[in-house]
Amino acid sequence: MTFTLSGNSIELFKPSLRAILVVGVFHGDEPQGDYLIRKYLKLYPDTNLMMVPCLNPDGMKMQTRINAAGVDLNRNFPSSNWEISEKNEYYGGDYPCSEIETRFLVDTVEKYSPRAILTLHAPYRLVNYDGDCEAEMLAYKIAKIIGYPVQKNIGYPTPGSFGTWAGIDNKIPVVTLELDEKVSLLNLEKPVFGIFKMLESY
Ligand SMILES: [Zn+2]
Repeated sequence: MTFTLSGNSIELFKPSLRAILVVGVFHGDEPQGDYLIRKYLKLYPDTNLMMVPCLNPDGMKMQTRINAAGVDLNRNFPSSNWEISEKNEYYGGDYPCSEIETRFLVDTVEKYSPRAILTLHAPYRLVNYDGDCEAEMLAYKIAKIIGYPVQKNIGYPTPGSFGTWAGIDNKIPVVTLELDEKVSLLNLEKPVFGIFKMLESY
């Protein structure tokens, strides 16, 4: 086991069985999710969404995609297509779930069985999904609120990704929202909070 967290902690807010789960900052250089989720929790503390503002606090502190052990968390999930990869910023770890951050999210999903999951990334300005027609429907609802295109295939392979593990292998609808990095955090609030509101009654 590699305990990479160096004094930073991962927080899970409002844990609840079968709730919808929202997760930010798989990649430390995509900090938008942390800001948006924390602000939403402050404004709407009674939300029924289960929320993890920042899965990769070490990476966020270092402003790197990877965590402190040099692993791309979104290549470290125990999916059917995990594979050993080169040690670059997409390194998937020595074995699936080698990272404490990955295990935290796997444990959370297994413990609470969320009925759908939204993950927040940047910078591509698109909505991607993993899973069946329910994931596709949810992706289109989200895309309509924020005005981004739905893109089924992101254009490159993502072995060991969270979407493959949760969406394809475990059949939980997963939507990946790639936020437009050119839009300020303040201007992302309205569409993203609109998406959270929609999810609360989904
Ligand atoms: Zn990302």
